[in-house]
Amino acid sequence: MNQLQQVKIDEFKAQFRGDMLLSGDTGYDEARQIWNAMIDRRPALIARCASPEDVVQAVKFARKHNLLVSIRGGGHNIAGNAVCDDGLMIDLSLMKSVRVDPNGRRATVEPGCTLADFDVAAQAHGLATPLGINSTTGVAGLTLGGGFGWLSRTYGMTVDNLLAADVVTADGSQVHASATENDDLFWGLRGGGGNFGIVTRFEFQLHPVGPDVLSGLIVFPFDQAKSVLTQFARFTETMPDDLNVWMVTRKAPPLPFLPQGVHGKEIVALAICYAGDPTHGEKLIEPLRVFGTVHGEHIGVQPYTVWQQAFDPLLTKGARNYWKSHNFSRLSDGAVDTIIEYAGKLPSPQCEIFIGTIGGQTTRVAPAAMAYSSRDANYVLNVHGRWESAAEDKRCIAWAREFFTKSQPFASGGAYINFLTQDETDRIAFAYGATYDRLVKLKKKYDPTNFFRMNQNIKPV
Ligand SMILES: Cc1cc2nc3c(=O)[nH]c(=O)nc-3n(C[C@H](O)[C@H](O)[C@H](O)COP(=O)(O)OP(=O)(O)OC[C@H]3O[C@@H](n4cnc5c(N)ncnc54)[C@H](O)[C@@H]3O)c2cc1C
Repeated sequence: MNQLQQVKIDEFKAQFRGDMLLSGDTGYDEARQIWNAMIDRRPALIARCASPEDVVQAVKFARKHNLLVSIRGGGHNIAGNAVCDDGLMIDLSLMKSVRVDPNGRRATVEPGCTLADFDVAAQAHGLATPLGINSTTGVAGLTLGGGFGWLSRTYGMTVDNLLAADVVTADGSQVHASATENDDLFWGLRGGGGNFGIVTRFEFQLHPVGPDVLSGLIVFPFDQAKSVLTQFARFTETMPDDLNVWMVTRKAPPLPFLPQGVHGKEIVALAICYAGDPTHGEKLIEPLRVFGTVHGEHIGVQPYTVWQQAFDPLLTKGARNYWKSHNFSRLSDGAVDTIIEYAGKLPSPQCEIFIGTIGGQTTRVAPAAMAYSSRDANYVLNVHGRWESAAEDKRCIAWAREFFTKSQPFASGGAYINFLTQDETDRIAFAYGATYDRLVKLKKKYDPTNFFRMNQNIKPV
């Protein structure tokens, strides 16, 4: 309560329907913890909003008392922007309603929803929109940064499927943004991070998906990595949009379909999702099986919602994480060699290098159509440093940074803002890319005092 007196908080509470937490309150420590355990910040006050009106009150309170504000959706941001020291954390995680209009194929989603909340509700009607691959991630942060996953090659980035949003702006006004109303704000929300206001409701386009999809893993020995990655690079250049194949190289988790002797050893895994007719999908993926001599595979027809949660056990909250990321138009031999070199010296059992394949529909939108502009990115590479104890920080971070530097010459322009760490402020303009100047102008209009600055920040200057 350094900056806030009880009397001011009582005033705020009288106008607020949700929960308010101060240091020492039951639930305070849990509420300030986010996915990445490297981030340990202590807000002066956590306002757990129950409604858009609560968000308005929180913004007004922070303005009045000149408080730093952070916004929490699903709390997965690697840079830890959801939580601030000393200021007001506006926590939206209690706002979790999803309403699906199956006939109109639309969904309205509140900003505390995880991907699982959204997927499960939409799949009850055999519908979905492209989201990420870890079901505990927040819809809000993922969408505002761009958003991509298994369905993106067919249906585009998550932002390509955003139809409208309700926003509380920096002066506490509630506005609607769509292609026909406040269209400049709508342009900026689609990739501009949390820079322009707090979204209290998203409206998405949905598509028929599943409910079953052909999906799973094929695992190869690491000593075949060169051949497997080279074939993966060429295969993914020409595969049809409705097939998606990602690559991850790491130490093998104890997956039941792998021989015990492989557990803990370096492997190359292809993760596959085909959302069309499974018989046709089987034919499409057949060539992947002969990229090498497989250690094992686990592929079958399963509910889309199950596949969306398949990686959750490897991505649980509470570990220490440090990421570095590049976009690639093409995976050259140089990129493949660098990946193999650094996958050969993983500094912890949980570290991994993965390539998310996008391309397809994500590249067919004009770069200036919205804030997200990396339309030349066919692949998003993430070096995912992940470990358990602070004693390992130095070694694991050094590995991630070194790999990042060595692989940089093979990368294309831009970077995914949702994968930037807290020490990458010098990459922000580069990451926004072609739309950065327009984003600065928009920031000046909607947030001239940089009230929303715990984000991949666009400064209004
Ligand atoms: C394990 C894991 C897997 C991931 N996989 C993918 C993936 O497959 N595809 C992909 O695209 N991304 C992926 N990401 C990245 C993810 O998109 C970002 O971490 C994103 O920031 C998460 O959003 P969140 O709401 O959970 O985060 P939070 O940390 O809660 O929010 C992040 C930031 O977004 C802004 N924000 C959040 N909510 C609002 C709101 N309502 N209004 C305005 N601003 C807001 C704020 O600036 C906030 O600091 C993954 C992340 C993790 C940790």
